[in-house]
Amino acid sequence: HDVKVMMTRIFKIIVIGDSGVGKTCLTYRFSAGRFPEKTEATIGVDFRERLVEIDCEKIKVCTADSLLTGQERFRKSMVQHYYRNVHAVVFVYDVTNASSFRSLPAWIEECKQHALGTEVPRILVGNKCDLQDSVQVGTDVAQQFADSHSMPLFETSAKNPNSQGDGSCDGGNSDHVEA
Ligand code: GDP
Ligand code: MG
Repeated sequence: HDVKVMMTRIFKIIVIGDSGVGKTCLTYRFSAGRFPEKTEATIGVDFRERLVEIDCEKIKVCTADSLLTGQERFRKSMVQHYYRNVHAVVFVYDVTNASSFRSLPAWIEECKQHALGTEVPRILVGNKCDLQDSVQVGTDVAQQFADSHSMPLFETSAKNPNSQGDGSCDGGNSDHVEA
């Protein structure tokens, strides 16, 4: 007789970057569709999921947002679990914080050490584009960096995806990430 097999594909995306760049807010925006009222510093790994339909297939997209910072480190086993079975990596910096941009090579290197180099889809996200008056990392320098690491660049805002600023923002697209 007819046996229906239900399958949910799981797509794990890890969201990486310095503390405070907006990783939790971006993953919240992606899963809940809005900006969180308030966020607390993530303890351990914050997994969120959302069902999306791509090519008539339901796919569970899991975002894993961690407390990894330049100084803090998970215990080794936690790190290994975090980097396991990853389908894509999102590197995040804060456009109003140059130091978060300068940390990117270290994050990219850390991913490479866990076998997440150019063979997995990776994107670069410049967050907080709504704060146009405080921008420290311009689009041109970010684009150059993205090109040199073979990544597409998306400038956006978890808070106000439609903020236009000087027009360099990718506004309106942060609710729906396309690989
Ligand atoms: P995380 O440490 O990378 O997870 O950063 P959080 O998501 O906790 O955000 C850190 C702070 O930045 C919080 O106060 C957020 O409200 C704020 N924040 C996050 N995204 C944005 C954004 O797009 N625009 C603005 N203006 N603030 C943001
Ligand atoms: Mg967080």
